Amino acid sequence: MQQAWKRSLEILRDRIEAQDYENFISCLHPVAARDRNLLIEAPNRLAIDLITQRYLNLIEEVLSQTVGWPVRVLLQPPGAVQQELFPLSVPVRPPADLSRKRPSSLIPKYTFANFVVGASNQFAHAASKAVANQPGDHYNPLFIYGGVGLGKTHLVNAIGHQILDKYLERRVLYLSSESFMNELINALRRDRMDEFKNRFRRIDVLILDDVQFLAGRERTQEEFFHTFNSLYEGHRQIVLTSDKFPKEIPDLEERLRNRFEWGLIADIQPPDMETRVAILQKKAEVERIELPHDVALFLAANIDSNVRELEGSLTRLGAFASLNKCEITVNFARQVLQNILREKDATITIESIQKVVCEFFHIRPADLRSKKRSRSIAVPRQVAMYLCRRYTQASFPVIGDRFGGRDHSTVIHATQVVDQRAKQDPTLRATIERLERMLECRG
Ligand code: ADP
Ligand code: MG
Repeated sequence: MQQAWKRSLEILRDRIEAQDYENFISCLHPVAARDRNLLIEAPNRLAIDLITQRYLNLIEEVLSQTVGWPVRVLLQPPGAVQQELFPLSVPVRPPADLSRKRPSSLIPKYTFANFVVGASNQFAHAASKAVANQPGDHYNPLFIYGGVGLGKTHLVNAIGHQILDKYLERRVLYLSSESFMNELINALRRDRMDEFKNRFRRIDVLILDDVQFLAGRERTQEEFFHTFNSLYEGHRQIVLTSDKFPKEIPDLEERLRNRFEWGLIADIQPPDMETRVAILQKKAEVERIELPHDVALFLAANIDSNVRELEGSLTRLGAFASLNKCEITVNFARQVLQNILREKDATITIESIQKVVCEFFHIRPADLRSKKRSRSIAVPRQVAMYLCRRYTQASFPVIGDRFGGRDHSTVIHATQVVDQRAKQDPTLRATIERLERMLECRG
């Protein structure tokens, strides 16, 4: 990416006025790349706003041409991640501020100030900030996907809050896809479709949570399609979340899937150890729970599935400590949470899957990453991809990357093929079961 960026700079130099190039473009530098997104650091907010208005489209166009696939650029101020990863204090919104705010469907406590940024959610966070700062301008729709309890609902509510803070007059509507469907059903039943349509088409920002819920609901999809189009054409911001990548949502009309992919797609991965500790500390401060560092480490080491569980364990611990009027120690935590804390079993990673599959099929890990397409390699490769999807939280693009830089569509295809064949082919099914047992024993 660094090289692509260098080459793009040369092209941009010819296409942007010298003064602007010197002031705003030459000082940019990429800090991270993920899937098809490039995170670029700009010197300050002013520069970010200006570049977004004048040059973002051009930068994306040039970069995309240089690398040969569509690239989305996210601009962020310097050090945004590290600063927020270990916050010194928790900025709690003063009550006066809340009362000044107009009532909205947003969940009050889910703000950017309460969101901890780490490597696992850095892109989704940067994308959300960008959308919150300039709703409707770029990245439309913003599609955030990731596993359960990883902070999707929190992030998209934060977008809504920030838009309301910044643009007092904007109408922001947050709702779950399920509510959308229920409101539609009610409107149909009471013959109030005009009202329904008007309501959704009058808003400036629509945040629809958990769109995977639309799977198989044709009537709701159709209505949402029209809502989407009318908002999109009016340059209104649309924000969507899902527990799946658009291509992976079953029974979704092609035209909707297609639209979900128009804007920016950002994933949230499970948080790493440091981020888990930072989340616990922030939550402890907000809830005024005295949480010693060693206990935070203990919890973070033992609960790595999702943030909701992590928070739940802390709340429980806080409640027990105050009931028993005692301090929170590692031993106390172990007792209170014994049901929740499974002994941390060796985790299954892409590497461990590749290793087990290679042993089983007598091939080398390099073969899995190679371009070889003979059956003796292609089948194990597909099976390995399938297992990665099942046993790790890695996204399709990440898996593709670890299998010799393959495209995410290849991984999606592989998982579908294996899934299908396993249903018909008992030998393949047995093979997969063997591999699963090997994985579960060994991690
Ligand atoms: P999802 O919608 O992805 O299932 P939620 O947004 O409901 O997840 O998050 C679950 C809980 O974890 C919420 O209480 C949320 O505030 C918290 N949470 C998740 N990620 C973070 C984070 N990065 N920083 C702070 N809290 C987080
Ligand atoms: Mg949610």
